[in-house]
Amino acid sequence: MRLLLLGGTAEGRVLAKALHPRVDIVSSLAGRVPDPALPVGPVRVGGFGGVGGLRRWLRDERIDAVVDATHPFAATMTAHAAQVCGELRIPLLVLARPAWDPGSAIVVDSDGEAAQTVERNRYSRIFLTTGRSGTRAFTGSEAWFLIRAVTEPDGAWLPRRHRLVLSRGPYHYDDELALLRDHRIEALVTKNSGGDMTRAKLDAAGALGIPVVMVARPPLPAGVVTAASVDEATSWVARLANR
Ligand code: NAP
Repeated sequence: MRLLLLGGTAEGRVLAKALHPRVDIVSSLAGRVPDPALPVGPVRVGGFGGVGGLRRWLRDERIDAVVDATHPFAATMTAHAAQVCGELRIPLLVLARPAWDPGSAIVVDSDGEAAQTVERNRYSRIFLTTGRSGTRAFTGSEAWFLIRAVTEPDGAWLPRRHRLVLSRGPYHYDDELALLRDHRIEALVTKNSGGDMTRAKLDAAGALGIPVVMVARPPLPAGVVTAASVDEATSWVARLANR
């Protein structure tokens, strides 16, 4: 069985390690990060060229199954995979790590709504962790932002008053607590990414009584089969391989 593993996440790397070399896998990365952590086994990098490109690639490479282990907010890739796998009748599994419980966070549906919430509540010092493209909605804001992202946002998409920190998780509770305190943060804006690598900021914000604005996940395409953990995904692959 030949499997395409859509990656770009820690789960994608752990799954590749669990399957390679027993299963013939090829991992795929979008190619956004200049120096990505690479999964074991064969890797291809870059977009497929939309739905048509993905359809061609899956056929050319004689792919029998796809595991989509992209980030929960990588909605376009997930939609393309669901459409093309449906058309070609290729089994697809979406490895979707469980979402965080938003608790008392203000839950919004988009970066734009998060920006409106910041303005409405007049938060003036914000820790913004919605990623490279997530800064765009905040460009017109007069608040001050501590922006943390893996890769640098486009300069035109940055708010006027900010400090940019480029780094990659995992992050730890004590460091997050110190970061929030040192920068006198009044609100945290985050996606509901889920997982342990970046959740310490929520715990730290909770301990300091800092309000959280949380962007809800985009819905998954209707009818897709999901796994909540790498173990579940490994079992799904094993069942297919033994069929
Ligand atoms: P997206 O909006 O869903 O994808 C945009 C386009 O990027 C897709 O249409 C596809 O191009 C290409 N692409 C995305 N993931 C790909 C993959 N694994 N392999 C090959 N092409 C891929 O996704 P995104 O938000 O730009 O995220 C890109 C990558 O970064 C994903 O692998 C994701 O796991 C990772 N990531 C995203 C976030 C986030 O918050 N969005 C956070 C951490 C990591 P074509 O249409 O040309 O095929």
